[in-house]
Amino acid sequence: MIYYKTDAEIEKMRESAHLVSKTLGLVGSMLKPGITGKEVDLAAEEFIRDHKAIPGFKGYGKFPATLCVSPNEQVVHGIPSEEPFKEGDIVSVDCGVILNNFYGDCAFTFVIGEISEEVMQLLKVTHESLYMCIEVAQVGKRIGDIGHAVQSHADKYKYGVVRELVGHGIGKNLHEDPQVPNYGRRGRGTQLKDGLVIAVEPMINMGTRKIKHHEDGWTVTTADKKPSAHYEHTIAVRKSGTEILTTHDYVVESIKANPNLKNLDFTIKK
Ligand code: MG
Ligand code: MG
Repeated sequence: MIYYKTDAEIEKMRESAHLVSKTLGLVGSMLKPGITGKEVDLAAEEFIRDHKAIPGFKGYGKFPATLCVSPNEQVVHGIPSEEPFKEGDIVSVDCGVILNNFYGDCAFTFVIGEISEEVMQLLKVTHESLYMCIEVAQVGKRIGDIGHAVQSHADKYKYGVVRELVGHGIGKNLHEDPQVPNYGRRGRGTQLKDGLVIAVEPMINMGTRKIKHHEDGWTVTTADKKPSAHYEHTIAVRKSGTEILTTHDYVVESIKANPNLKNLDFTIKK
């Protein structure tokens, strides 16, 4: 069942979305070669708790951490580890918080040091696909239009669009109806109505779309070990036009101020 949000609930979700966006900004200020996912995770947890909120992922289905930290061939759901990051890593960081009983959910793939043009293009196209699907996610459109927007963009580059993991409704629960796949057919699926709040999150692989689930019960990697990228926003579908509740602005500021991170050579849209 889809739970459409009232104006007041969307205002609360805006606050959760804002905090989760700021937390990713903190992550961007810390990432560098030599630091571990675990160190960044502990700082993120402290930051969230200092803001009178609760890490949204920790304990969710027994996930052990505040952040999902998924470097290189890890697609999503990586558990922050003691393994230091190194020059040339791309690191997808996904964060959820609960504030005023509502979840916020946002993700960004960071670049530590220099990477090949090939990998940079994967990040650029994945990021573009996020904004392209948000553009079509308007009242009256359907869930299939969102997936189609992501898939058709990724297809142009012969990238693999992950199918087993999807975006989702979000509110008092982290995962609500409807599911929001990154593939689909135009005009198919649930119609988008005013008050629908969803997390849209393209997960795009450089090679095969096939994935592998690891023995830790969480980590998902590409089957061919080629890199994967992931960007996510929490958005509210409104009669007046769809609003992006999360923002990557804090991330962009932190990347600019952090000499260890590569400025992405594509414009981050708002
Ligand atoms: Mg997420
Ligand atoms: Mg999500």
